[in-house]
Amino acid sequence: MLEPLARIGRDPATGGYVRDAWSEADMELREWFAGEAARRGLDVREDRNGNLWAWWGDPTARPGVVTGSHLDSVRQGGAYDGPLGVVSAFAALDRLKNRGVTPGRPVGVVCFTDEEGARFGVPCMGSRLLTGAIKPDRALALTDDDGDTLADVMARAGRKPYAIGRDDETLATVGTFVELHVEQGRALVDQERPVGVASAIWPHGRWRFDFRGRADHAGTTRLADRDDPMLPFARMVLAARAGAARRGVVATVGKVHVSPGNANAIPGRVSAWLDARGADECDVRQLVAELAEGLDVKEESWTAVVDFDAALRDRLARVAGGDTPAPILPTGAGHDAGIMAAAGVPAGMLFVRNPTGVSHSPDEHAEQADCEAGVVALADVLEDLCR
Ligand SMILES: [Zn+2]
Repeated sequence: MLEPLARIGRDPATGGYVRDAWSEADMELREWFAGEAARRGLDVREDRNGNLWAWWGDPTARPGVVTGSHLDSVRQGGAYDGPLGVVSAFAALDRLKNRGVTPGRPVGVVCFTDEEGARFGVPCMGSRLLTGAIKPDRALALTDDDGDTLADVMARAGRKPYAIGRDDETLATVGTFVELHVEQGRALVDQERPVGVASAIWPHGRWRFDFRGRADHAGTTRLADRDDPMLPFARMVLAARAGAARRGVVATVGKVHVSPGNANAIPGRVSAWLDARGADECDVRQLVAELAEGLDVKEESWTAVVDFDAALRDRLARVAGGDTPAPILPTGAGHDAGIMAAAGVPAGMLFVRNPTGVSHSPDEHAEQADCEAGVVALADVLEDLCR
């Protein structure tokens, strides 16, 4: 199902995907989206923040039912996280047309920009800007690994960086948002169900830890004379794991920059990014506070718990489940649907079974039959909501 996208941004050495926001791969993905919309005769437009919208019907006349997800990826990510939701959205629209459905409300497909935050460190950038959850000044000043700001790369892509920010006009077109996504973690396989519905998104955040020391020779500097920032960094990583286990939350250090990064030199500086999440905000906050004590720590993002609209959640479970309502699951992953829900838009999510639970990895997978079940469920849901 994801075949047409399979070659874009794929690293042949690993089979993983690198699809940073505003990169060449991102541009190709955007072109693909515009082509799919055009092929179906849908009006497509890009909003001020770089999100793409394809509309069946006129959303300025009446707020629409919107579905979709994102096309960017974590670095060395899998094929399904994001693209499955966008491809399924177009496929579900095709089904509605084949069923002869005439929607009573406009139906839209969205591709949110920079959901993963792989390049600038802040996830869900497109939906955060759209809803005003991040200030434009802060977003524009964020830098990537090459030192380029979001403002630089947007300008280079021919966009107007100084036009970004909360966009009430676009937001008003979204009456309801339903995001289909590959399951991350493993719950549906045990319940023997291909499709589930989200109940809530765990509170989660990212923090940058900077450890400074003194760069020196690895051979000639006595142990007693060293100021090695790698040691407090290592202590922090172990403390994060132990503290998370104690509190029943999860904590991960998945990105580290070591400067200067020579195998034969004591580093002068170590920067590390901590990702922490859990069902209870207090537990996550306490863990980070404990780790941060006496250290140089900057909060790069924080997203409070999001409980999806209960009535919509139950409606999705009923319609998507067929004979028995679809299982309702919480998730530890952030999503644009969570940002939209936090902004007061009725929003919900469908999950497609992931047999191993592996995600953010080239091994991420969903069976073809389950993806098709996801499309049918999404079509049923859209048909129900667009009446
Ligand atoms: Zn995703």
